Amino acid sequence: MREIQAADLTKAVRDLCIDANYNLPEDVVQCFRDSLEIEESDTGKAIFNELLENAEIARTEKVPYCQDTGFAILYVDLGQDVHVVGGDFNQALEEGVRQGYADGYLRKSIVRHGLDRKNTGDNTPCLSHVHLVPGERVEITIVPKGGGSENMSRINMMKPSDGKEGVKDFVVETIREAGPNPCPPLVVGVGIGGTFDYCAYLAKKAIFRGIGTRSSKPIDRELEEELLELCNNLGIGPAGYGGRITVLDVHVESFPCHIASLPVAVNTQCHAARHKTVTL
Ligand code: SF4
Repeated sequence: MREIQAADLTKAVRDLCIDANYNLPEDVVQCFRDSLEIEESDTGKAIFNELLENAEIARTEKVPYCQDTGFAILYVDLGQDVHVVGGDFNQALEEGVRQGYADGYLRKSIVRHGLDRKNTGDNTPCLSHVHLVPGERVEITIVPKGGGSENMSRINMMKPSDGKEGVKDFVVETIREAGPNPCPPLVVGVGIGGTFDYCAYLAKKAIFRGIGTRSSKPIDRELEEELLELCNNLGIGPAGYGGRITVLDVHVESFPCHIASLPVAVNTQCHAARHKTVTL
């Protein structure tokens, strides 16, 4: 049994909060560079140049890439042969977020209740998904999720008879209706199957899979490619000023579902497609 100090978890989460907000992942930056070559609109090209410059300024001057530094969403793969000592596991994660958002001068964006709107003051609570995995490894991924793009996400309990064409229509309509609001170009996460809540979980997981990677399931891979083309035919373009590139990629994650159900969720992720992972 491997022992891990709660304080080491806190430090790891603190550093992840800052790293994710200052440094866009390389797959996202590379996709901006590639998109610059493909984009047909002059305004769209100018936007990609701005995004690349913004990413470089954030990296070198150690400032957040965007003023909305997001809801801290954590995915933890916790080895079943790990024993966390010296403190409470959940509190260690929360404390890491608290320290990261304070030390990194990141905006505090969480209110304690959806109706009274009082800011919690330290960007907690975070939202953590913990999965037990074999072995002694602890892997933590952070996704600081912006509110503007989250607000344009949709869920739909579709009829099984809606099938593939129904799913495609729902995803494309979601992106069309979102227009410039979620800060395109987007990474679109699509969750298919499971239950009402689980398809939303799948859609969020899909947004931080590496840009350009495809599902290992042929049915989902084919859907990703078709949706990528359909979404990029919408003409919304970078920052919504029109152009070829409305979405950087579409990722589909699926799970078995009930014979009577076809749950589908679309999680829209803005161009600030931040995520960082560390293994302890
Ligand atoms: S949606 Fe994304 S790019 Fe737009 S303000 Fe929020 S974090 Fe920033």
